[in-house]
Amino acid sequence: MSEQNFDLVVLGAGSGGYAAALRASELGMTVGLIEKDKVGGTCLHVGCIPTKTLLHSAEVADFARESAKFGVNADYHGIDIAAVTSYREGIVASKYKGLQGLIKSRGITTIEGAGRLTSPTTVQVGDDTITGKHVILATGSYSRTLPGLEIGGRVITSEQALALDFVPKKVIVLGGGVIGVEFSSVWKSWGAEVQIVEALPHLVPNEDVSVSKQFERAFRKRGINFSLGVRFQSVTQDENGVVVTLEDGQTFDGELLLVAVGRGPATAGLGFEEVGVQTDRGFVITDERLQTNIPGLYAVGDIVPGLQLAHRGFSQGIFVAEEIAGLNPVVVEDVNIPKVTYSDPEVASVGLSEAKAIEKYGADAVSSYDYNLAGNGKSHILETSGSVKVVRVKDGPVVGVHMIGARVGELIGEAQLAVNWEAYPEDVAPFIHAHPTQNEALGEAFLALAGKPLHA
Ligand code: FAD
Repeated sequence: MSEQNFDLVVLGAGSGGYAAALRASELGMTVGLIEKDKVGGTCLHVGCIPTKTLLHSAEVADFARESAKFGVNADYHGIDIAAVTSYREGIVASKYKGLQGLIKSRGITTIEGAGRLTSPTTVQVGDDTITGKHVILATGSYSRTLPGLEIGGRVITSEQALALDFVPKKVIVLGGGVIGVEFSSVWKSWGAEVQIVEALPHLVPNEDVSVSKQFERAFRKRGINFSLGVRFQSVTQDENGVVVTLEDGQTFDGELLLVAVGRGPATAGLGFEEVGVQTDRGFVITDERLQTNIPGLYAVGDIVPGLQLAHRGFSQGIFVAEEIAGLNPVVVEDVNIPKVTYSDPEVASVGLSEAKAIEKYGADAVSSYDYNLAGNGKSHILETSGSVKVVRVKDGPVVGVHMIGARVGELIGEAQLAVNWEAYPEDVAPFIHAHPTQNEALGEAFLALAGKPLHA
C-alpha cells in the first residue's frame, strides 16, 4: 500500500491521456499516468495504426493484381495472412516502443493497473492511492453492439477482425461508417465477397451527401454490396457461418458478421458517478474547456461527446495540460477537426457540409464548387476518380472542404488551414500548387470560387 502525489494524474494512456501527460511534463508538472493495459491505447494497438497496415497490404494486393496495366510483370498469388500479421505486429511494436521511450524520457511516472476514481483528486489503483492537484479522465471507448446482438463466435468486433488468422471469403458488415467501410475495403481487396448493412440512407453518412453518393458508386464499382436505409433484425450462427436477417425480410449469409455500429464510452464502474461526475449515457459532460462539473477534474478523448478520433484526443490532451498550466489555450471545435475515412477510395473533410452550411447561413448565402478529379493530371496517372468540393459563404470565408479519391487524406492539411483561419477563397487562390499533384485540385476549386477558374 502506497501513496503517490503528483501535480497531474491522468487515468488512461491512450491518445488523449498520453498527449496530456507529455504536454504537462513539458510544462514542468509532475505526472502520474495510469494505464491498465498498454500505453498508446486503442489507436496504437487495435485502431488507427494496425488497420492502416491492413489497408496498405490491401492496396499492394490491388497493385499486384493490376500491375500488367502499368507495364510491370508481377504475379499475384493471394494473401499470406501470417506475413500480414507479422507486418502489422512489427509496426505496432515499433511505435509502442517509441512511445514508451518518449514517456520515460519526459520523466512521467507510469502506473500499471486499473484505476478507479475515489475523489476529485484521487485514483485508487489496487492498494495504491494516487493523488493529483488535477486529474484528467481519459479511459477511451469500446465497440458497441445493438440490443440483443451478442458478440461471440462468428459475430465479431473490429478488434477480432484485426487479428483474424485467415482471409474471410464472405463477410457481412453491420455499419457503413468509418470502421465498417475500412474493413470492407480491405477484405474486398483480399478477394472476399462483402455485404454492408447500414440503417441510414447512405454509406459514410456523416459526410457531405455528394461525397457519400460518389463513395457508394465507387464501392459498387468495386463489387462491394450494400443495403441502405434498412435495419438489422437478427443473426443466427453455426459452425458453417452466420445468417443475418434485416427488418425488411432480406437475409444474407456469410462466414462472419462484423459489428461496426459505433463506440461507447468506457466509463462504467470507474467511480465517476459515485464521485459525482456528471455523465450522459456514459459520456462525461464537460464545458467547452473540457472541465467536468467538478472543478479541477477534466476529461478528454472518446469519453467526451463528439468526434471519436485520435487527433481530437491529442489536441484535447494538449489543451487541458495547457489550461491547467494557465496558458489559456484556444478551444478547438469539433467542426474544425479534419476527418478521414481510410478505404479505397479515401474520404477527407473538414468544416461544414454544404447542407449544414445552408442550415447555418441560408441557401442564398452559400456557394460551392466541386472540382472533378478527372481534370487533375496526377489523379489521371493514379487512375483515381473523385472530387474536391469547397463550400464558402458568398463574399465570405471557406467553411467546408470535402474530398474523395485515392489518398485524399494527405490533402486535408491545407483545407484545414483555410477553414480554421476562415480564409476567403480569394486569399488562398493565389497560392501555387506543385504540378502535377492531387493538391492542385484544391487550388483549382479555390480559383473557381474566387471567379478565376483555370482548368475548371
Ligand atoms: P483510448 O485510446 O481508448 O485509450 C484509453 C486508455 O485508457 C486505454 O489504453 C485503456 O486501457 C485505458 N483505461 C481504461 N480504463 C482504465 C482504467 N480504469 N484504469 C487504467 N487505464 C484504463 N482515429 C483516428 O483518428 N484515425 C483512425 O484512423 C482511427 N482508426 C480507428 C480504427 C479502429 C478499428 C478503431 C476502433 C478506432 C479508430 N480510431 C481512429 C479512433 C481512435 O482510436 C480513438 O479515437 C482514440 O484511440 C481515442 O483515444 P482515447 O485516449 O480517448 O482512448
